[in-house]
Amino acid sequence: MIIAVDGPVAAGKGTLARRIADIYKLDYLDTGALYRAVGLKLLQDKQDPADTAAAVTAARHVGEIALDDPALRDEKTGEAASVVAANEDVRAELLQYQRNFAKREKGAVLDGRDIGTVVCPDADVKLFVTASAEIRARRRFDELAAKGVETSFEAVLEDLQARDARDTGRGAAPLKKADDAHLLDTSKLDIEAAVNAACKIIDAA
Ligand code: C5P
Repeated sequence: MIIAVDGPVAAGKGTLARRIADIYKLDYLDTGALYRAVGLKLLQDKQDPADTAAAVTAARHVGEIALDDPALRDEKTGEAASVVAANEDVRAELLQYQRNFAKREKGAVLDGRDIGTVVCPDADVKLFVTASAEIRARRRFDELAAKGVETSFEAVLEDLQARDARDTGRGAAPLKKADDAHLLDTSKLDIEAAVNAACKIIDAA
């Protein structure tokens, strides 16, 4: 069984996808971490995330980059990830890694932006998880505040809208709901309610 979970930044898809993997005993891949790993490698090597050749080389070696480095979660890394993700050659390098993961015997849950549309168009269940920009920015702001990061709600909202625009507006595998994906709006749902709603969709499928 392959479950695709797509959606914009801070919609709650990562937490949801992890819970689904746990409940249905499937392996889990956070595909955003792959783009973040490429972005982080470039930042650490003092290279420009917009440098195609450097980004493609980093993407080719993504299997050697630790995907659990806490620096992957930094806002700066997320920014760099969103820049490298707009690069078609980087996406092509990471595509095979993601497809191989999805082919695992145990079955898999992958979360990202283009899982239902490009990486696994034949996924058994596709979820498109979203929430209003204000709600997503509020969640991200609270997360950052809990980590002690000083910022304002307005700055977080602005960053998130810029990231949304880049993810939906790019030519290469833009963020969009697959025609056969189930829309799950988490604006008014807490995580338990979102997990219940997702399980209903998966069980019905
Ligand atoms: O989901 P996360 O915020 O960790 O993703 C980081 C960036 O990687 C996103 O802004 C997006 O540009 C990119 N991404 C992507 N395709 C995916 C997963 C992430 O373009 N499947």
